[in-house]
Amino acid sequence: MKLHRAWVGLGSNLADPRSQLVRALEELDRLPLTRLCIASRLYSSRPLGPSDQPDFINAVAELETRLSPLALLDQLQALEQRHRRVRDRHWGPRTLDLDLLLFDQQCLSMPRLTLPHPEMAQRAFVLVPLAEVAPDLRLPDGDDVATLAQALGDWGSLMVLPNR
Ligand code: AMP
Repeated sequence: MKLHRAWVGLGSNLADPRSQLVRALEELDRLPLTRLCIASRLYSSRPLGPSDQPDFINAVAELETRLSPLALLDQLQALEQRHRRVRDRHWGPRTLDLDLLLFDQQCLSMPRLTLPHPEMAQRAFVLVPLAEVAPDLRLPDGDDVATLAQALGDWGSLMVLPNR
């Protein structure tokens, strides 16, 4: 099985978001046939949409995996479910959101999985931590992640948190 490189965006704004993310990073490292190569610092961002909710904590993880894109998505969704069950009794806002941002240089358009993640190029809370872990990374269309991050200009809403 071939070794792939995948980037995952993590976000949480409920139930002690910082520890949700720290735990999720450890859990990503323990997924089958997968290891965590590097994780960004934790960032705090204002919520998109309704502002009457807590700020988000975001990070990006770079993984090495022998799973296929869909098998990795299955694992990420199972991990989201576990966080929901432990922390949140009612079906409500998510305690943990995991987005598969990039998988090698693959482009996919399937009902369950779009690669690259469709909104990633517009989101500072994705691009800034992604450029931190992979400063030379390009999207399949050739766009440079660090340049996209710099071009966004809404860094004002993004803060680096001191420690994991
Ligand atoms: P959301 O919870 O809003 O992030 O959306 C989750 C839904 O998006 C799930 O039904 C996934 O199957 C689908 N999806 C499509 N592409 C992706 C991707 N690149 N990463 C994560 N979920 C995806």
